[in-house]
Amino acid sequence: MSPIPELYESVKERITCAAQKAGRNPSEIELIAVSKTWPADTIAELIECGHDLFGENRVQELVAKVPMLPARLRWHFIGHLQQNKVRKILPLAETIHSVDSSDLARRIDLIAAELGLFPKVYLQVNTAGEAGKFGFSVAQVREEFDSLLELERIEIIGLMLIPPLASDPSLTRREFVALRELRDELTARCGLPITGLSMGMSRDYEIAIEEGSTAVRVGSSIFGSRKSRKVKE
Ligand SMILES: *Cc1c(COP(=O)(O)O)cnc(C)c1O
Repeated sequence: MSPIPELYESVKERITCAAQKAGRNPSEIELIAVSKTWPADTIAELIECGHDLFGENRVQELVAKVPMLPARLRWHFIGHLQQNKVRKILPLAETIHSVDSSDLARRIDLIAAELGLFPKVYLQVNTAGEAGKFGFSVAQVREEFDSLLELERIEIIGLMLIPPLASDPSLTRREFVALRELRDELTARCGLPITGLSMGMSRDYEIAIEEGSTAVRVGSSIFGSRKSRKVKE
């Protein structure tokens, strides 16, 4: 028997508990099931549980999977997006979590106008200033945010974070807090409700919810370990 229904229920319960513990309404938190590396058959098992929101981090993989699955599913793109792939991804993904530069934001805006689309995006922020990692620095977001708001086709719905791998959860929490504070600062400055915080993965989504996450991206806690899957193949 597939472990997916039970794992899925347990993730949903833990989301509810973490929200309640933080005095938040669980319905404020979107669960994006990260289906990367898993085939359509496996994704179908989660669809049967009533889930319809999925995240993928590779363009080719998303392009291949979408036609194999029901058209009513919603797809979010969560991986680094090369500018020459924007045209492929926009008709398929309603939201892009990983807008990591102003150049990419402008490119998405341009292609969206050509295609007649209004994509929602998160700006990915490298709050910890990790070298070699994608994302705006905090200083760049502060500097470039107002001009990004002027782009007509993209709707900036929030900020996104992939925290550094830390064995100490308090270090991860610090990054979540930094993202929330940056979001609050930008919201106060522009007077617009930029409410979204895409943060939290299998290892840390409860902490992320305690710190205000509105979108958790959970893969292995729902589908199982991607590592064991590779061994099987
Ligand atoms: C893979 C991935 C996730 C999910 O990771 P898990 O640890 O399997 O929950 C979340 N966000 C991004 C950007 C990812 O690439």
